[in-house]
Amino acid sequence: MKIKAQKGKIDFASIEKKWQKEWEKKKIFEVKENPKKKKFYCLEMFPYPSAYGLHMGHALNYTIGDIYSRFKRMNGFNVLYPMGYDAFGLPAENAAIKAGEHPKKYTNNSINNFILQQKSLGLSYDWSRMIKTCEPEYYKWNQYFFLKFMEKGLVYRKKSAVNWCPKCQTVLANEQVHGGKCWRHEDTNVEIKQLEQWFIRTTAYSDELLEMVKGLKWPERIKIMQENWIGKSFGTEIDFTINGKKWPIFTTRPDTIYGVTFMVISAQHPKLFEIVTKEQKKEVENFLKKLRSVSEKELEELDKQGVFTGSYAINPLTNEKVPVWAGNFVVADYGSGMVMAVPTHDQRDFEFAKKYNIPLKVVIQPKDEKKKLSEEKMNEAFTDEGILVNSEQFNGMNSEKAREEITKYLEEKKLGRKTVNYKFRDWLISRQRYWGTPIPIIYCDKCGIVPVPEKDLPVMLPEKVEFGKGNPLATNKDFVNTTCPKCKGKARRETDTMDTFFDSSWYFLRYCDPKNNKEPFDKSKVKYWMPVDQYIGGAEHACMHLIYARFFTKALRDLNLITKGFDEPFIKLFNQGMLHGSDGNKMSKSLGNVVNPIEMINRFSADSLRLCLMSLASPDKDSIWNETALESLYKLILKINNFFKNAKIGNSSKRFESKINKAIKQVTEDIKNFRYNLAIIKLREIFDSMEREKEISKNDLESFLKLLHPFCPHITEELWHNLGNKSFISLESWPKADESKIDEKFEEIEKSLDKTVEDIFNVINIVKQKTGKEPNKVYLYVLPNEVESFDAGELSRKISKELKVFAVNDKNKYDPENKSSKAKPGKPGIFVE
Ligand SMILES: [Zn+2]
Ligand SMILES: [Zn+2]
Repeated sequence: MKIKAQKGKIDFASIEKKWQKEWEKKKIFEVKENPKKKKFYCLEMFPYPSAYGLHMGHALNYTIGDIYSRFKRMNGFNVLYPMGYDAFGLPAENAAIKAGEHPKKYTNNSINNFILQQKSLGLSYDWSRMIKTCEPEYYKWNQYFFLKFMEKGLVYRKKSAVNWCPKCQTVLANEQVHGGKCWRHEDTNVEIKQLEQWFIRTTAYSDELLEMVKGLKWPERIKIMQENWIGKSFGTEIDFTINGKKWPIFTTRPDTIYGVTFMVISAQHPKLFEIVTKEQKKEVENFLKKLRSVSEKELEELDKQGVFTGSYAINPLTNEKVPVWAGNFVVADYGSGMVMAVPTHDQRDFEFAKKYNIPLKVVIQPKDEKKKLSEEKMNEAFTDEGILVNSEQFNGMNSEKAREEITKYLEEKKLGRKTVNYKFRDWLISRQRYWGTPIPIIYCDKCGIVPVPEKDLPVMLPEKVEFGKGNPLATNKDFVNTTCPKCKGKARRETDTMDTFFDSSWYFLRYCDPKNNKEPFDKSKVKYWMPVDQYIGGAEHACMHLIYARFFTKALRDLNLITKGFDEPFIKLFNQGMLHGSDGNKMSKSLGNVVNPIEMINRFSADSLRLCLMSLASPDKDSIWNETALESLYKLILKINNFFKNAKIGNSSKRFESKINKAIKQVTEDIKNFRYNLAIIKLREIFDSMEREKEISKNDLESFLKLLHPFCPHITEELWHNLGNKSFISLESWPKADESKIDEKFEEIEKSLDKTVEDIFNVINIVKQKTGKEPNKVYLYVLPNEVESFDAGELSRKISKELKVFAVNDKNKYDPENKSSKAKPGKPGIFVE
């Protein structure tokens, strides 16, 4: 049987549109819980919809996930593969202000555009589960979780020094401050302000977050980043006394306590002025003013600057009085916001002491006698371990033993204690901006802070607001003025909104039950689908999103909102590489190297783009855009299409059966391990050999289409139907390799054919150089048992010349130079003329 050939060029656009519509109409990617089927939850980090639409990085990310989902679906899994939009956030608000458009309208337009573009890529999402975090149906549950966390003591309000970006006009979480700059504004110094803010007690889970990261199948570097972010260190808390009040100070080096010659309190410490004396007040205030107005260059210099507070701290072991300085290099919320300074054994303390003429005192000597330290001769701190001196009864001990003994002694005297310190901070979620979830809190003069009762949720974000004068909620009287749920008296609403990372901390749970309006999700549905089996997204989310989502899962588990034993949301994580412009630089408008995926789809088809994105490099590695590659893959698809139109269906040769079964085995392994680029190479090879076959079985043709399907879902669906199938290839089962049909002999033959082609070209070149003429006839002399292996037709096609094959013992052969005597096993003699 021959498939009817169609004339003319193939209209990819209408083929692709046709199948996208068919899939949608028949709802073939919509899934339900099915206890009889094994589930697989594949998820890409949901996008922030901007007016610019889909960029090439998105296309890459979603293609990776779609290939995996299609593969798993064909392998018999009940695949949950949803999509939604991280729709709240500052960029929409800013863009809206600039364009004079309401953030809601801006966001919805962006989302609608995004959906159209995603659909044109042929992504197999279950669109019935789509969520938008800016809708009250979603953010109601943010408010609900906030209240639940509050009941559990996981929410609190505190006046604290906060990071303030003057450009964003809002507070930033510690995670959003990179090297003193705003994460959105690389050129803007973050200021410190004292404000009443809402916090989530993420640190309640520090240990579990740290412990359980070890068991995750995540890229090692992401795991290390999380460990460092939590930053657990063991040490000793020592009670110093300042003006009669105890100040517990954390240190990892209690062995240096006899060398403390001053203390440094964070310049941002909320209680700084409790210890500043009258005499020093003016000077401290001037110093703080200077800190707020520094330029970038000066900031580094300021790192080593400070000001005397006028107060002294008493060292509990020596009873010595040492001055307390305020400095910029101590973080306000690390430890207790104050450190004991040991200039002889800490480099920063050393530089500080030198600058302000603070005395030094050596208390650790190196083990090497020759390197003995003296205060006068030191020009840098000695930070290694050593032997204690000038330390009373601890003299002569090594650092490690001294740490233990000194801590023990402090504990006995109730002057200190062994302790653990974390770099990890509680999550500051208050934002003074409009486009976010209102925090469900009411302030009443009589009753104080009153949570909005659950039945009154959601606290709706008002639509009519005025932009441009600070937080639009604060100036909206209808929103602010309310009645107290407790005493029914006049009250005010909280006008802060939540950090949008709150929205993205649980969206993967909502996908399991997106339409539920009675609860955030049905526990049993979450039990069926979660955890996410494969999460795909960028490495830039190593700390914020991935830590918050892990925290949420643990907190919801302990609130009994999800099943016990479900501790981690994302079992496997895949970080895709970055796609650079064709010039090797990061794609950016200013460099003019941005490639628009939709334009490429319009010019070449979605299937070609998908195939191209996956062939540029291994999906976890960075790649460089290459339009020539796209064009050649487009031609490949054309060739495949033409081949199928004209393919003769019959019996496959033994050689092809071996080849296709081997390909099934390899491509399966490659896709399973995200080696998509290698899978594509194998698909090209198998197609090359298909073209050489006289006829192929329908089953083998179908196997090829199935292997190609995850990469090129549209054209394979079309060709599948052209083969007479009524089902969707998208729902067909993945081919299984028949190992008994794989014969390595054929591999060997192929290899020796390739080698022979190479040899022929060498001989041709030699003759060409000798005679100056291009030979066009080639004669091969092979051992009698190899005649069948050297297919004259195929070789002739490969070298584009006339070619004849003779057995060396053939009496009628044409062999003027007796080249048949040169033939060896697998290596024919060659004559050209
Ligand atoms: Zn900013
Ligand atoms: Zn009240």
